Amino acid sequence: MDLYEHQARELFAEHGILVPRAEVTDSPEEAREIARRLGGRVVVKAQVKTGGRGKAGGVRFAADPAAAELTARQILGMVIKGHPVGTVMLARPVDIETEFYVSYVLDRAAGRFLAIASAEGGTEIEEVAAARPAAVARIPVDPAQGVTSAKAGEIAAAAGLPAQTADVLVRLWQVLIREDALLVEVNPLVRTRQGQILALDGKVTLDDNASFRQSRWGAESTEHGDPLEAAAAAKGLNYVKLDGEVGIIGNGAGLVMSTLDVVAGCGARPANFLDIGGGASAEIMADGLSVVLSDPAVRSVLVNVFGGITACDAVADGIVRALDTVRLTKPLVVRLDGNNAARGREILDARRHPLVQQATTMDGAARRAAELATAV
Ligand code: GDP
Ligand code: MN
Repeated sequence: MDLYEHQARELFAEHGILVPRAEVTDSPEEAREIARRLGGRVVVKAQVKTGGRGKAGGVRFAADPAAAELTARQILGMVIKGHPVGTVMLARPVDIETEFYVSYVLDRAAGRFLAIASAEGGTEIEEVAAARPAAVARIPVDPAQGVTSAKAGEIAAAAGLPAQTADVLVRLWQVLIREDALLVEVNPLVRTRQGQILALDGKVTLDDNASFRQSRWGAESTEHGDPLEAAAAAKGLNYVKLDGEVGIIGNGAGLVMSTLDVVAGCGARPANFLDIGGGASAEIMADGLSVVLSDPAVRSVLVNVFGGITACDAVADGIVRALDTVRLTKPLVVRLDGNNAARGREILDARRHPLVQQATTMDGAARRAAELATAV
């Protein structure tokens, strides 16, 4: 789960990283009052969980409280990359001398964290990395060792950051660990003309698996980036949106993961995946199908179930009953195997739905779903 900039900023401040004075509001009139409190001139910043706000016009200076009200009203009416702006943050402007980039991100493949830092901050780091890879330092961090002052000095030196930034690098690591984050990013981290190091923008992604011990952000931060992921989460389903065209429903994470691979091996790309878990009741099946079918990118759906404790006839019953409540709009390929598979297949056959077909093997089912998804 991503935090808003103002929430990230709050965490930074709690861990001793300097941030500009700022306040958040959803009202233009209050924005005027806040600007007055902050000294008149302010930066008005859209609070949306997406980057590139500056370029989109979501970060603007206002010279006085009246201008702050007007600017806040304009920004509150914006939609940035599909995210409607619900609140703005007003911050006291900072006199920037240099902009840097720093982040820590989980490197799952390596089983470590990665410190990424650059003396060319402000613009998106992907652009810097593409144009001048040498300008971006990538230093592995062993999670058991963490970022000590010595490690922070090493990161700063590798990126060409002033030694002065080492203290922030240590504190930012503490934010990552203590708040159970998967990503902490400051872009830009700035040196002001007065020589202070300040975090001007922040992005924090928390580890949802640790939410039980990080309850402070409550309902506000349970906003999911993808509306279908939110709908699935509300129904207690594990749904992840991907980029392809084959919708995938399976029971159990391992089976679902291998289904993704087999579909990719057949030349199609998974559009999403949904794990219905062990108990594939009719209701769960209906919920799962309705979520997957709501994704406009889906061109075919593959249901891959290995019956265990929940037998295949119960799963087939679930699918048949789901077909009564969910209007099937795309072809559905079903592969049932395991406990009571033969009975399950009979039940599905008896339903004779024109868009439902069965396959007896996982490979066969994936091939069929891939063909249906890629056919013109
Ligand atoms: P982003 O576009 O979503 O990354 O939003 P940022 O908060 O990073 O702001 C974009 C850019 O606006 C920064 O890189 C700065 O160059 C500039 N900016 C933001 N706040 C200030 C400020 O207080 N003073 C100055 N001079 N520039 C600022
Ligand atoms: Mn930024």
